[in-house]
Amino acid sequence: MDDTEALRVAEAVVERGDLPLLGRDPGETYRMGIMGGTFDPIHNGHLVAAEQAFDDLCLDVVVFMPAGRPAFKQDKRVTSGEDRYAMTLLATSDNPHFLASRFEVDREGITYTADTLEQLSAIYPKNVEFYFITGADAIAEIVTWRDASKIARLAHLVGATRPGYDLAHARAAFEESPYEFDVTYLEVPALAISSSYLRQRVEADQSLRYLTPDQVTGYIHKHHLYGVRPKRYGSSDLEAQDL
Ligand code: NAP
Repeated sequence: MDDTEALRVAEAVVERGDLPLLGRDPGETYRMGIMGGTFDPIHNGHLVAAEQAFDDLCLDVVVFMPAGRPAFKQDKRVTSGEDRYAMTLLATSDNPHFLASRFEVDREGITYTADTLEQLSAIYPKNVEFYFITGADAIAEIVTWRDASKIARLAHLVGATRPGYDLAHARAAFEESPYEFDVTYLEVPALAISSSYLRQRVEADQSLRYLTPDQVTGYIHKHHLYGVRPKRYGSSDLEAQDL
């Protein structure tokens, strides 16, 4: 990357404010993890999966990117992008190699991963590689996503699974695809936790302690998400924090 190119990358990143500055040394290869998900809400399973991907794949950074309008959830009730982003920010801010990004939340229209990767490829120089990390269920469907060939070309894929998860469906889907995907699977015991489990617990007035960071629980209570009921005296869960 010459000086002009380096300046252009730096300006694009600084303008965004929530993307990492990577790719400065042309002799080096940099690995950016992109943690894609709805994060409704984010939980410890997501955080452990991202940390494991960071270690196992020698990533330089993991950028958490809540989907703005998730492509496959048009008929479902999804918490606002602002709330999901805020919870993601709260959950990731104490980890120096995690970053929460509004990149997809701020984009108009349905969120397609191919668009995200194409835009990131335009911002970053060629020595930055993208590792798109998400649940193995979602990874197995990638061959059906819009511009799947572009995704195959622009990113390595990382499918996070819980132990015992059957990868046969995902493997068959990639074998039958005309495109060459580079896929790594990570077994993450903490993914026994799911966002729907957390939502059910809130609905049933049960504690989220140890399932998601306390700041996220505080945010859920303060903003009455997922059917939070008024707090009863002496509840074991957290009081709403001033967030
Ligand atoms: P989903 O169908 O809600 O999730 C499938 C499974 O994966 C669930 O068990 C989910 O658990 C888990 N999961 C989701 N994100 C995860 C993550 N980052 N790490 C570990 N497990 C994860 O999937 P989704 O959230 O709608 O979409 C996942 C990603 O794929 C997003 O970035 C989305 O934009 C992208 N996507 C793109 C297209 C497209 O371009 N056409 C279509 C669909 C999805 P939890 O519910 O606990 O998270």
